[in-house]
Amino acid sequence: METVASNKTRTFPVPEIVADQRAYFQTGATLNVEFRIAQLKKLKSAIEQYEHQILEALKQDLNRDHTSGYLLEVGFILNELDETLRHIRKWTKPKRVPTPLFHAKAKSYIKSDPYGVTLIIAPWNYPFQLSVGPLIGAMAAGNTAVIKPSEISPNTSAVIAQMFNEHFDPKYIAVVEGGIPESKALLDEKFDYIFYTGSTVVGKLVYQSAAKHLTPVTLELGGKSPCIVDNKTHLEYTAKRIVWGKLVNAGQTCIAPDYLLVHNDIKDKLIEEMRKQIKAMYSEDPSKSDEYGRIISEKHFKRISALMDKDKIVVGGKVDAYDRYIEPTIMEGVNDDDPVMQEEIFGPVLPVMTYENIEEVITYINKHPKPLALYVFSKNQGTIDKVIGETSSGGVCVNDTLMHIGTPHLPFGGVGDSGIGAYHGQSSFDTFSHKKSIMHKSFLLDMPIRYTPYTAKASKMLRTLLKYTNR
Ligand code: NAD
Repeated sequence: METVASNKTRTFPVPEIVADQRAYFQTGATLNVEFRIAQLKKLKSAIEQYEHQILEALKQDLNRDHTSGYLLEVGFILNELDETLRHIRKWTKPKRVPTPLFHAKAKSYIKSDPYGVTLIIAPWNYPFQLSVGPLIGAMAAGNTAVIKPSEISPNTSAVIAQMFNEHFDPKYIAVVEGGIPESKALLDEKFDYIFYTGSTVVGKLVYQSAAKHLTPVTLELGGKSPCIVDNKTHLEYTAKRIVWGKLVNAGQTCIAPDYLLVHNDIKDKLIEEMRKQIKAMYSEDPSKSDEYGRIISEKHFKRISALMDKDKIVVGGKVDAYDRYIEPTIMEGVNDDDPVMQEEIFGPVLPVMTYENIEEVITYINKHPKPLALYVFSKNQGTIDKVIGETSSGGVCVNDTLMHIGTPHLPFGGVGDSGIGAYHGQSSFDTFSHKKSIMHKSFLLDMPIRYTPYTAKASKMLRTLLKYTNR
């Protein structure tokens, strides 16, 4: 049997794990909604038991303070679990739909079937939330799941593995730790659904692997999310909300405002206000703030540092390689040719570009890959409507940043280069369910005219029936 070494002490027999899950799924154990509810409750209590270890692991991996760790990962997931437990009975019920007269006598309904054995591949930036969040949908929909957390956040990955090993049988939920070799070994297997979160480049590789088995996918990818600031805005709140959204997790957030498009009239005032807000949130020296994160790895530290052009820096700019610290940094006078505008920044560096007319902004955004998030700050409803109406993005948040991700009622996902599919709340359940269409015909009625040979009269009646059948 082929095995893959994830680290020096552990190997994962990937084909065996998948085969065991398939055999378990085929027993039908996961089909029962009471079973799913019991397992989701078990997951909830496991997370509560492991809360401290999870928060500590996040601190070690990302220098994440416990409050943010709870807010953005543990608490976020517990909320998602509560929402799922509240509605799972309703979501799993077959949905009756009308049956056109043409088909009388019959009833029609849609049944949510689990796909079967699913794979969840997660990134390192919100390593707990992005491993366990999709899992809630997979479990609620009655699937088994293999989770592959990111090797770049090894402490959180280890806690996730320990928690699931302690509480769940790997034939139902398994964790395969490791990096690219483990991910590739998993992708060589046939899964019934793949849920991938990570970069667009790797997302394309995952899509190719999935295509070999015709496996459906959700791809939660990244990109450059623009943030537009109109001259008619609430300056203080705008600055505060941009700074918060950009600097949480030291900018390593898939939906962080990547760059600003600011109306010329208020650019200087906004930069000054953002400088003030950075200081208010992280003190004069953010390197000493307990709440300011660090860059995940040396590779990313070097990559982000290389995007910082010292001639264009107007706020911040200090770095410390030893500590992987990058000061909150604002760059001005940036244009599309600057390296900082060539890739997703994924760090605490905020380039500012200006505009005179909202049309320029729309043209600029539409010339670039479709972003995961788009932010617009304005008091002018016409401007807001125009931006929403004339651009395409995974989601939009008006007059704030990141907050649209924090509700189970809005599906979260990308479009175009920023991804395929969406999840959160009911959308997670739907993502992991095959919608099976069922028409149940009765023996009480049998329309003779539907069968050949067609007489002229039957043909005419059929045409009339078809015409009026859906009215
Ligand atoms: P990544 O694509 O490098 O890695 C993600 C996962 O894929 C990891 O588990 C990794 O082990 C695996 N992987 C890496 N290379 C692989 C390969 N060649 N073949 C198979 N598997 C491979 O992404 P990352 O650096 O961990 O995360 C950062 C990116 O993720 C950013 O672009 C960010 O915007 C995006 N992201 C998106 C969302 C979202 O919800 N849309 C959330 C978080 C992060």
